[in-house]
Amino acid sequence: MKIISNYINGELVNPLSGSYLDVFNPAEGKVYAQLPDSDGGDVNLAFKAASAAFPLWSSFTVEKRSRILLNISQAIETNIEELALAESMDNGKPLKLARSVDIPRAATNMRFFATSILHFASESHYMEEGVINYTLRRPVGVVGCISPWNLPLYLFTWKIAPALAAGNCVVAKPSEITPMTAFLFSKICIEAGLPKGVLNIVHGLGNKAGNAIVSHPGITAISFTGGTQTGEHIAKIAAPMFKKTSLELGGKNAAIIFNDAPYYEMIKTVVRSSFSNQGQICLCCSRIFIEKPLFEKFKKDFIHRVKKLQVGDPLKESTDVGAMVSEPHMKKVLSCIKIAGEEGGTITTGGKRIILNGRCENGWFIEPTIIEGLQSNCRTNQEEIFGPVVTIMPFENEEEVLGYANSTKYGLAASIWTNNLGRAHKFAEKIKTGIVWVNCWMIRDLRTPFGGMKSSGVGREGGWEALKFFTEQKNICIKY
Ligand code: NDP
Repeated sequence: MKIISNYINGELVNPLSGSYLDVFNPAEGKVYAQLPDSDGGDVNLAFKAASAAFPLWSSFTVEKRSRILLNISQAIETNIEELALAESMDNGKPLKLARSVDIPRAATNMRFFATSILHFASESHYMEEGVINYTLRRPVGVVGCISPWNLPLYLFTWKIAPALAAGNCVVAKPSEITPMTAFLFSKICIEAGLPKGVLNIVHGLGNKAGNAIVSHPGITAISFTGGTQTGEHIAKIAAPMFKKTSLELGGKNAAIIFNDAPYYEMIKTVVRSSFSNQGQICLCCSRIFIEKPLFEKFKKDFIHRVKKLQVGDPLKESTDVGAMVSEPHMKKVLSCIKIAGEEGGTITTGGKRIILNGRCENGWFIEPTIIEGLQSNCRTNQEEIFGPVVTIMPFENEEEVLGYANSTKYGLAASIWTNNLGRAHKFAEKIKTGIVWVNCWMIRDLRTPFGGMKSSGVGREGGWEALKFFTEQKNICIKY
C-alpha cells in the first residue's frame, strides 16, 4: 500500500489528525494507496510556512525563480514514465494518453511560465509634461490553488506555475480522488531546490481541506478548477472576504458541423472531442449538431468509428478508452444515460457498463455512448454529464443551431466545422463561449486566454492573464 504525505515547509509530513483516506485504482476497482485526510490545522501549518517563505521567494530576481521552475520542468520530463504510470493508475486514463498529453503538458506548463515571467512587464502612462504614471505589479502573497481529477498534474501545474513564477507562495490541494502525481511532484520540488514553504501541498477532502484553504483569511487569492456547484460555494465564501478568484468551471460544449465541413479531419477529430479521456475533459464536445443533409452520413461514419474504439486496460497500448475515475462517477454517468432514455432518446451505440476480464474485472468502464432523438432543451442536453456520452442532433439553418448552441447555462468552448470563412467568423463571434475552435479542437497555445463565460467560470487563465491574476497592481503617479 502506497502512503501519500502532505508537503509542508519543504518536508513530506503526516496529517496532524493521523487519519488517512483510501485512493482507488479505477481500472481495478480497488484501493491501492492512502492519502492524508487533512483539515484546517494542516492548512494553517501550510499557510504559516508559505507566509514565512514569501519575503525570500518574492525578493528573488525573476531569473532565479525561473531557473528553479525550469529545473522542476526538466525533472518532470526525466520522470515521465513514472509520472505517466502513476497518473494512469490513479485516474484510469490510458497510459499512452498520460504519456503523450498529461505529463508532457505539466512539464510545458512549468517551462512556459518560468520563461514568460522573464518577459512580463507592467505599463507606464505618460500623461503630460511633468506627469507620468507607472503600474507596479507585485505578487499577491499566499495564494490557494485547487484542482480537479480529470487532468490531475496537468491542471495542478497550470495553476501553480504562474502563481510561483509571479513570486507568490502557494497552498495547493489536488483532488482527493487523484492525489498521486501531486505527491510525486512534491518530491520533484524538493530535489529541484524549491525553497521550503514556497509550495505546500495539502491533501484531503474538498469540503474539509479545500474549504479551509478557501476560508483562510490569510490566503488572499483562490484559483479553482472544478464543478460549477463547487465554484458557487467557493465564490460565496470568497466574495465577502474580497478575495481574488479565478474560477474555471463546467461546460456543455457544442460541436457544430456544416455540410461544407472538411469531412475527414472533422470526423476523426469529433471522435476525439467526444471520447478523449473517457469524455472527462472540460473541453469535450458533448452536443454534436449536424446540418441536415449531412446527418445520416455523419451518423453512419461516426458510429462506425466509435464502435472501433478499444475500451480496456489503461496500461495496454491498444486501449483508446480507459476507466471512469470513480465508482460514484461511473454510476452518475450511467444514471444520465438512463435519463436520456426516459427523455425519449435512442441509444445508437454503447450505453452500458463494460465488465472486462482479468486484472480489470472489477474496474469502472463504460461503453462510448451516442444518443439521438433528443430535443436541445432536455436535461441530457442541458446538464454536464462529464463522461463518454454524446448526443447527435440535426439542424436546418444557422439561426436554429446558434440558438441550440447558446441555450445552456454554460459557456466554455465550442467547435465549428465549416469551410465558409464568413460563417466561421460570424459563429465564432456569436457563440457565447470563452473558447472557439474552427475546423479543429483542443489546439492550445498557452499564451491565449483560457476560460469560460456564464456558469463556466469567472476570469481567464493562461499567458499574461494568469500572471495578471497572480499579481496585485498599483498605479503610481509622479509629478516632476
Ligand atoms: P469538484 O468541483 O468536485 O472538485 C474540484 C476540486 O475542488 C477538488 O480538489 C475538490 O476536492 C475540491 N473541492 C470540492 N469541494 C470543495 C469545497 N467546498 N471547497 C474547496 N474545494 C473543494 O470537481 P471535479 O473534481 O469533480 O472535476 C470535474 C469538474 O471540473 C467538471 O465539472 C469539469 O467541467 C470541471 N473542469 C473544468 C475545467 C475548466 O477549465 N473550466 C477543466 C477541468 C475540469 P475533492 O476532490 O477532494 O472533493
